[in-house]
Amino acid sequence: MPDNTADFDIARVRADFPILSRRVGKNPLVYLDNGASAQKPLAVIEALDRYYRHQHANIHRGVHTLSEEATAAYEQARARVAKFIGAGDPRECVFTKGTTESINLVAASWGTANLHAGDEILLTEMEHHANIVPWQQAAERTGAKIRVVPVAPDGTLRLDVFRQLLSPQTKLVAVTHASNVLGTVNPVSEIAALAHSVGALVLADGAQSTAHFPVDMQTLGADFFVFSSHKVCGPTGMGVLWARTDTLNAMPPYQCGGDMIRVVDFAGTTFRDAPERFEAGTPNIADTLAFGEALEYVARLRPAAHAHEDALLRYATARLAAIPKLRIIGTAPEKVSVLSFLIDGVHPLDIGTLLDADGIAVRTGHHCAMPLMKALGIAGTVRASLVFYNTFDEIDRLGDSLERIRKMF
Ligand code: PLP
Repeated sequence: MPDNTADFDIARVRADFPILSRRVGKNPLVYLDNGASAQKPLAVIEALDRYYRHQHANIHRGVHTLSEEATAAYEQARARVAKFIGAGDPRECVFTKGTTESINLVAASWGTANLHAGDEILLTEMEHHANIVPWQQAAERTGAKIRVVPVAPDGTLRLDVFRQLLSPQTKLVAVTHASNVLGTVNPVSEIAALAHSVGALVLADGAQSTAHFPVDMQTLGADFFVFSSHKVCGPTGMGVLWARTDTLNAMPPYQCGGDMIRVVDFAGTTFRDAPERFEAGTPNIADTLAFGEALEYVARLRPAAHAHEDALLRYATARLAAIPKLRIIGTAPEKVSVLSFLIDGVHPLDIGTLLDADGIAVRTGHHCAMPLMKALGIAGTVRASLVFYNTFDEIDRLGDSLERIRKMF
């Protein structure tokens, strides 16, 4: 299969990612663990270098040139995030350490202020632990209850059951936009419309969607949207919580300290509006700037990159499905390029280890989705997760290795 199309030059794209030319043992690296974390283009690596060589100073309160420049660059990164997700205003975007921290922030701040005994939080069976455990803790603190929407055998969400579970008691629906195990893309707009009809708010976990297709806060319908920089080719330890300004400003602070206050007095303290209200202390300035570069880079490659990725997913699905005894877990019609699978009689960990010996990086295990594994009646899967810089040749290498591994057992 050709990787190049008229407007997508894969060799040029891959040249932007220095790590893709390294070897693992004797073999060229085949990196198919993008769902866990994507690799970084030169634009990101150079932004980090440039910041520490030429721009570093603490932001916001400085009157000197460096501080003013660093502040402007930090706020420019916020504007880039807003553009990337179609936010109405950059001030709707709060910088966090990542998806996990963003969800913890909402669960601790909004959850504690708004959940009461008898209220219900609706989750789905396909949530990542990061979108389960903070809600369990919030439920314990407040007396709210957790209800769970099941997943059909092909990996689609049971919207029929979702409708039945929704009630005036439902105060929040927390749902993944795309599943990190099944690849399923959930119909967040439809879910949000239904949730809003009973007065519930919706948190959409965009950790796996933002890397694969454009998202738009104007049409998504969610009240909270969270994602991580490192899965969209940016640095680790960075992420975003998006919500409308009135929602954010009605939430109590999550962490307190410098920069998030208006006036501090031993008689009482007043707080700034969002986003500063939720960005206490000196933030991760360098990684924020590099995150902004990553989003610009990824956005520049769209939509050609998506067409390539879709073709890769179709090719990889057919290639893997043709391997005897291999079963793909997650075949929903709407999917991102995540391929979980099992081979009868071979433990996922053995498959992962043997693939690594061929230079192929995949992930094995429960993928931080133990409740989903329980629902599917399996202990774990092997997961190959693709992005735009993967190639048809890499899929062939995966297929060939899996054929060989299957025959070993
Ligand atoms: N939600 C989903 C669907 C994920 O796939 C992940 C990470 O794999 C997370 C949340 C947590 O993201 P992070 O570890 O970047 O906070």
